[in-house]
Amino acid sequence: MVINKTKRGNEMKKQALILTAFILTLIIVPGCNGSDKSSEAPAQQQVKEQYQCPMKCTEEKFDKAGKCPVCGMELEKVANG
Ligand SMILES: [Zn+2]
Repeated sequence: MVINKTKRGNEMKKQALILTAFILTLIIVPGCNGSDKSSEAPAQQQVKEQYQCPMKCTEEKFDKAGKCPVCGMELEKVANG
């Protein structure tokens, strides 16, 4: 019976070691990801400013301010989304 106890104790130690390694991995891995900011992907939820004719004579939206190619009016800023 003493052998069984010892064996169980060893297994618990083993599990504790695995658990410790697992926790250490959890702590270290986010740190590694933090340095991976070089591959910054553009946020999809980012509100993109676009411009459209106030008369809406065209459905077309423009990335820059300017004048409507149809009626020549100053384009208005619109929230895309
Ligand atoms: Zn227009």
